[in-house]
Amino acid sequence: MKSASQTGQSPVGKVYLVGAGPGDPDLLTVKAQRLIGHAAVVLHDDLVSPAIVALTAPHAEVVSVGKRFGAPGPTQTEVNERMIASARRGLEVVRLKGGDPGIFGRLAEEIDALEAAGIPYEIVPGITAGIAAAASLGISLTDRRKAARVVVVTNHQTRGDANADWRGLIREDSTLVIYMPGHDFAALRDQLLAAGCATDMPSALVSRASLPGEGYLFSTVGELDKLAPVDSPSILLVGRSIDRTSCRANPSAARALDEAELMLSSLEA
Ligand code: SAH
Repeated sequence: MKSASQTGQSPVGKVYLVGAGPGDPDLLTVKAQRLIGHAAVVLHDDLVSPAIVALTAPHAEVVSVGKRFGAPGPTQTEVNERMIASARRGLEVVRLKGGDPGIFGRLAEEIDALEAAGIPYEIVPGITAGIAAAASLGISLTDRRKAARVVVVTNHQTRGDANADWRGLIREDSTLVIYMPGHDFAALRDQLLAAGCATDMPSALVSRASLPGEGYLFSTVGELDKLAPVDSPSILLVGRSIDRTSCRANPSAARALDEAELMLSSLEA
């Protein structure tokens, strides 16, 4: 049997579009871990934790293709070209993204580029940040006594409209999972209230879910503007299912709650 180079065809590798989960390596899928440890090329976003990048093979070409602290990283076209070029060298490529690659992860653009280039690819799902944040808090996003739906949404505008249109998303029985919530919580509060959200609607800002330094801040939509800045990445959960009393089910969340109450009581004293 002739090899690809003898037939004049170029050998084509494969690109795996892999979800790295929220950060804790224990939350990788078995498949993701195997592919990360085996790939010849790993192109990862900045969101992927160092502990997961450390699982790459010693001989692997490991490249961060993310934007760090707003500094311009490679463009999407450059990332696509790099994936395609590596696969055309016959290599197994892992394109590693935080959480799940299909949630606010530009997955569709990368698939389009791979299909246009005729490169075989496979998607490996991961645990998305909102699910990890709920687990850290010890709450159920679909607690059937309080919530009938979960809305996955971002506060980050990619299509140029200044205000997200929250109308239609706000319901007493919806849990909102807000990715990239930004820092302007006063503006977000105003938008949510203007869309009909109740001022006493509970919320929790979860930072670094599953990572060292994980933290929580509980509030209500009416008081979102009083939230202190937290470490990134952070995600905002809003809804009646965000019941701070059930957070005691989770030991680390209970600790955060106790610390918050301690601070509060020392302020009151
Ligand atoms: N594909 C990713 C989301 C990418 S958008 C996923 O499925 O999770 C990036 C946003 O995800 C961040 O701004 C933040 O809102 C959220 N995020 C990602 N990892 C997080 C973590 N460990 N803790 C809290 N929020 C996180």
